Amino acid sequence: MLVVPLIERKRDGGALTPEEWSALVAAYTAGRIPDYQMAALLMAVLFRGLARQELAALTDAMLASGQRLAFDGWGTPRVDKHSTGGVGDKVSLVLAPLVAACGVAVPMMSGRGLGHTGGTLDKLEAIPGFRTALSLEETKAQVMRLCCAMIGQTPEIAPADRRLYALRDVTGTVEAIPLIAASIMSKKLAEGLNALVLDVKRGSGAFLRKLEDSLELAQTMIALGEDRGCPTVALLTAMDRPLGRACGNALETEEAILSLRGEGPADLMEVTYALGVEMLLAAGVEKSTKQARQRLENALGSGLAAEKFEQVIEAQGGNPKAVEDPSVLPQAKEVEVFAAPETGVVTAVDPRTIGRAIVAMGGGRTQVEDVVDPTVGFVITVKPGDKVLAGEPIASVFARDPAGVQTGFEALRRAITVGERLAERALPLVSHRVTKAGVEQLGPPTTPRARGSRAARRG
Ligand code: URA
Repeated sequence: MLVVPLIERKRDGGALTPEEWSALVAAYTAGRIPDYQMAALLMAVLFRGLARQELAALTDAMLASGQRLAFDGWGTPRVDKHSTGGVGDKVSLVLAPLVAACGVAVPMMSGRGLGHTGGTLDKLEAIPGFRTALSLEETKAQVMRLCCAMIGQTPEIAPADRRLYALRDVTGTVEAIPLIAASIMSKKLAEGLNALVLDVKRGSGAFLRKLEDSLELAQTMIALGEDRGCPTVALLTAMDRPLGRACGNALETEEAILSLRGEGPADLMEVTYALGVEMLLAAGVEKSTKQARQRLENALGSGLAAEKFEQVIEAQGGNPKAVEDPSVLPQAKEVEVFAAPETGVVTAVDPRTIGRAIVAMGGGRTQVEDVVDPTVGFVITVKPGDKVLAGEPIASVFARDPAGVQTGFEALRRAITVGERLAERALPLVSHRVTKAGVEQLGPPTTPRARGSRAARRG
């Protein structure tokens, strides 16, 4: 097919027809369009946007590129959640087994690191042996047996997103509402869900920094879901500082495991529970927020959620001992403590700087074929608003060599600022609930401190 005229039309502000989107996606997925042409088209979309009909056509074409999971006749409700991407966002690793332990099936399809944000697949693959590329049949059988599978896009399921996602990651074409919406919804709609919960990040570390853009993204995805018969709800959550303490693949997996064992940082648990409540309500297994929260807390407190994660790891070829003993996860060669530069109040912990440093240290990709180093990253034990003393340990850098430690230290010096007082309040952890009926602003702003010791050690 002739791609150049389509790129030019999009570049000049025109629209492609549904048939053209369908043919483009099919040809690209089959390897008949080179990456450089698709990258040019994606960049044109980033600048020009997509008309509503184009977005629907792109999403449908991506969805049609692979097969869908079908659970015909199986009575267990199936709900998933997806995040638009953040730093330190290991919620999926806690939430999927937690909700599955409550009797709701979670056939979770996730992505890899994207831009400055981390990806669930890279975090899961930090567990020795863990396989994220399950076949359709394996996924279905595992979901029906364990109520949970955690997989990635494969040549069989969501293959178009698999290729486009990897291309966007290394071509500066992530931050576009229609591309994010089509990517997320084409994957999720292939999962055979009864309902979907979206975690739309807002703030300096989100792909879309402004509240209006996050709301537009949420509403765009909700419309795509609802129009295709999948009830969809979104929570807007804070990404103006990293979530939890650990940032980096293996470190985040360790923190997720500790969270499943009841030792999670307060902010991470708050976001996890808020999304979990929505999932249980959407599944229809609980009728009130209070009951849903109680059910989640019981599943976590009783150890059932941690046990579920162990079962999922074992079923997917990973070492289930990781849950009992996270030291089986790969360990960084170099670990150095970072101290507060002065006495005062932490005024910012910039997630974007942290995320970019992880990529630079080898924990993310700069080219499609890059292999990530799961061990690198940070543990940051302070949040904006915390008081610190000069010389007090407030973070640790995990790197593969001394040069990586230097990169990490430079990033921490830029990311963590200390001043006399907080100039701006941190964003509320969960600020809005969006449904097809409209937008609801939630409770007063909160800035809970990370629980546990301040010592800047592993998760
Ligand atoms: N998550 C996705 O799956 N795709 C995006 O484009 C962004 C976040």
